[in-house]
Amino acid sequence: MTMGVSGEVLIGGKWVAGNGSPVAVENPATGEIVAELNAVSKEQLEVAVTAARAAFPAWAALPPVARAALLRRTGDLVMERAADMARTMTIEQGKPLNEAHGEIEKLAQTFWFYAEEAVRVHGEIIPNDSIEFQSLVVREPIGVVAAISPWNYPAELIGWKLAAGLAAGCTLVIKPPELTPFTGLAIGRCLTDAGLPDGVVNILAGKGRDIGQALIEHPQIDKIAFTGSNAVGIKIQQSLSSIKRLSLELGGNCPLVVTSSADLDAAVKGAARRSFRNMGQICIAINRIYVARDLYEPFLERLAAAADKLVIANGLDNPAADLGAMASADPLTKTKDHLADGLARGARLIAGGAAPEGDAFTRGHFFRPTVLADCTPDMKVMSEETFGPLVGVAPFDDLAEAVELANASLHGLAAYVYAKHMDEMRYLTARLDFGSVAVNNVDAGIINAPYGGRKQSGVGYEHGREGLLEYFNLKHVRIRYDHPEGIA
Ligand code: NAD
Repeated sequence: MTMGVSGEVLIGGKWVAGNGSPVAVENPATGEIVAELNAVSKEQLEVAVTAARAAFPAWAALPPVARAALLRRTGDLVMERAADMARTMTIEQGKPLNEAHGEIEKLAQTFWFYAEEAVRVHGEIIPNDSIEFQSLVVREPIGVVAAISPWNYPAELIGWKLAAGLAAGCTLVIKPPELTPFTGLAIGRCLTDAGLPDGVVNILAGKGRDIGQALIEHPQIDKIAFTGSNAVGIKIQQSLSSIKRLSLELGGNCPLVVTSSADLDAAVKGAARRSFRNMGQICIAINRIYVARDLYEPFLERLAAAADKLVIANGLDNPAADLGAMASADPLTKTKDHLADGLARGARLIAGGAAPEGDAFTRGHFFRPTVLADCTPDMKVMSEETFGPLVGVAPFDDLAEAVELANASLHGLAAYVYAKHMDEMRYLTARLDFGSVAVNNVDAGIINAPYGGRKQSGVGYEHGREGLLEYFNLKHVRIRYDHPEGIA
C-alpha cells in the first residue's frame, strides 16, 4: 500500500532522507506497517533551523502580496491533490476517506484565507501629549517558528500555523506527529511546487521527546506554536531556559448543555456528531452532556439509537463511513479505562461498550460509539479528556446547576448548548467559561473566527485575524517632529 508521498524531509529547500533512526507508520485500520521513514538527526535539525534563520530577513521583507501569492498557489495545489492527500491521511490516521478529503479541503481554504489576511495587517497611530509627537505602532514578524502538532487532524493543525506564520513573514521549522508524518510531508510538497523560497519552511520527522524537544529548546527559535496534550504543553513550558513566544492549544473536556426548550432531535444529532466524529479524537469533542431532567430519558433513548446507527468501517473500503479506526492503541486503551471507571462507579451503559464484531475489525483499533448514562462528576468520563468514542450523560434541574457542572473543569476549550429560548441562550453563553461556545450547532471552530482555550486548555489563538496576529511583535515608534526650517 503506497502512501503516495516519499518519506524525504524538507531541509533548507532540499528534499532529503533523514539520517536518524527509522520511524514505522502503521495503518490503524489493519495493523499493517505501511511505510517507514527516517527521523532527522540532531545535525539535520541544526541545518534546518539555520536555514530558517537565514531565510527570515528576505521572507519578512517581501511585500505581503508576494507572500499572499505563494499561499494562494499552495492552496490551489492542495485542492488539486486532495484525493491523493486524503488517501495518505486515511492510511496513516484511520478516519474515513470522505472525512479526510473534507479536512484537506479545509486546509486549502486555510491557505486562501491567510492569503487574503496577509495584505490586511495594519498598525495604529496613537495621539500624544502634543501634535509634534506621533506614536506609530507597527507589526513585525516574530522570526523563526517551531510548529508542533498532533495526529488527530494531521493537515489542518499544521496548516493553521503554517499559513498564518507565512502570511505574517515568519519562517518555520515543522515537526509533524510520529503517527501521521506523511500528510505533513505532502503539504510540504505543495509548498515547494508552489515556489517556496529555500529555507522558509522546513519539515522534519522524528519523535517528540527527541527531535521535538531539541527543536523547541533551540536558541534560534523565537516562537513555539504547539498543539497537543496538556502533559507535553506543560513540559514544553517548563523546559524553556530562554524567553520565547508560546502558543499552546491543549486538551479539552467539553460539555454540552441541553435545556428544556431545546429541539430534541437537533440536540441528539449534534451530540452524536460531535461526540463520535473522528472517533472522538477531537480536542473539542463533546465529552459530557447535561440534559434538563424533563428531556433526560427521551434524550438518552434517542442518543443511544443514533450512536448504534453510526457506520464504522475501514475508511479506505468505505469512504462514506461515519467512523473509521482510532489512530493507535493508546487512545483506545484510555477509552476502555474511562468506560471501566464509569461502570465501576455506577454509570449505565446504553450504547456501544465493545469493539464492533466482524473480521474487518479484528486487527485494527476499532471501538463502537459508547454512551454512559447517569454519570457523576467523579467519573473520569466527566472530568478528564477521553479522546475516544465515549460520552457521559447526566441530568440537571436548573440552569445554574448546569453552568456549575459545565464549568467545573480544569479545561476551557469549547462548550455546546442546545436551547430555543433566547433568555436561556443568553444566560448560558454569558456564563460558560470556554474559548468557544456553539449554540444549536456543534461546529465551534471556523476559520474566520478566533479559536483558543482558557484555563488549562492553553494560551493564544488560531484561526481568524487573531490567529495571524499571534505571529507578530508590536513595535512602538515615537517620533518628535520639529517645525520646518524658518518657521518659529
Ligand atoms: P502529544 O502532546 O503527545 O503530541 C503532540 C506533538 O508533540 C507530537 O508531534 C509529538 O511528537 C510532540 N511532542 C511530544 N513530546 C514533545 C516534547 N517533549 N517536546 C516537543 N514536542 C513533543 O499529543 P497527541 O497525543 O499527539 O494529541 C492529542 C492531544 O492534542 C489531546 O490532548 C488533544 O486535546 C490535543 N489537541 C488540542 C487541540 C487544540 O486546538 N486545543 C487540537 C487537537 C488536539
